[in-house]
Amino acid sequence: MKAIRIENGELNVADVATPTPPDGEVLIRPTLLGVCSTDLELLKGYGGFSGTLGHEFVGVVEDGPDDWRGKRVVGEINCVCKRCDMCTSGLSNHCRRRTVLGIVKRDGCFAERFTLPAINLHAVADSISDEAAVFTEPLAAAYQITQQVKLEARDQVAVLGTGRLGLLIAFVLSKTGCGLTAVGRNDKTLSLLDRRGIRTARVNELDAKASFDVVIDATGSAAGLEKAIELVRPRGTLVMKTTCADRHQVNLMNLVVNEITVVGSRCGPFAEALRALARQDFDVTELISARMPLTEAPAAFERAAASDTIKVLLTPPGAA
Ligand SMILES: [Zn+2]
Ligand SMILES: [Zn+2]
Repeated sequence: MKAIRIENGELNVADVATPTPPDGEVLIRPTLLGVCSTDLELLKGYGGFSGTLGHEFVGVVEDGPDDWRGKRVVGEINCVCKRCDMCTSGLSNHCRRRTVLGIVKRDGCFAERFTLPAINLHAVADSISDEAAVFTEPLAAAYQITQQVKLEARDQVAVLGTGRLGLLIAFVLSKTGCGLTAVGRNDKTLSLLDRRGIRTARVNELDAKASFDVVIDATGSAAGLEKAIELVRPRGTLVMKTTCADRHQVNLMNLVVNEITVVGSRCGPFAEALRALARQDFDVTELISARMPLTEAPAAFERAAASDTIKVLLTPPGAA
């Protein structure tokens, strides 16, 4: 079968054996896959990953326990031991021995088949299309912010960065009732937010004294993180939402001077994301810029890295 792999720092369309699911795991045939900024960062060397890429998918269980076989699913990406101190204290996403689908020591979903523990699976309601369900993982990551930071109506909140993840974060936070401003520099994504009634600002047009109670950094760049720190009011909160290979030489001084609370934020609640998709709270499919064959992954990655691209989806061979 075909798989999209990073080998020696290079992206390859490889022929590999179909995996056999170990005990407790299922074999999944993905029907639609999402390219995430993390995939692009992994290709640049973030995390030193080698193996099959990919962690955003919707698919069908082909082999595994009877209660899952034939079901349409999405899946959580952290594969955990259930025994370590983090797992036994309810923080299994931080399992000391975890592997992470297509990110840490585990082959990902950019392949014709892949395996995942059955406990990671969530069934997808028939009312949710594949094109929407493939957004579950990044949408869950956006919801994680609402679980970590209590946002009140009086809070002025800025999302800095209106890329694939920043947009989803803006959608989610727009439903919380906080005073939200999405700050970016891309006309296309800013107007997409404007059309949904979300207040926007261009980063270079922000008032020099602009300051927010909570700032979410979704820029994926060192310069963006510095700008985010600058925008937090004294004693305010900075939420860091992006992993990125290039984070050296960020000036952290203002974190101290302004006594800023820093919240790192990663994976989030799948159930909540699936409920939002079933309610059709927001039309995530409007974010799809391109849909390309899995075997054209190198071109798809180039497309995903372009500044005018939001989401690139990959279609495995044989999937409709
Ligand atoms: Zn991702
Ligand atoms: Zn563990």
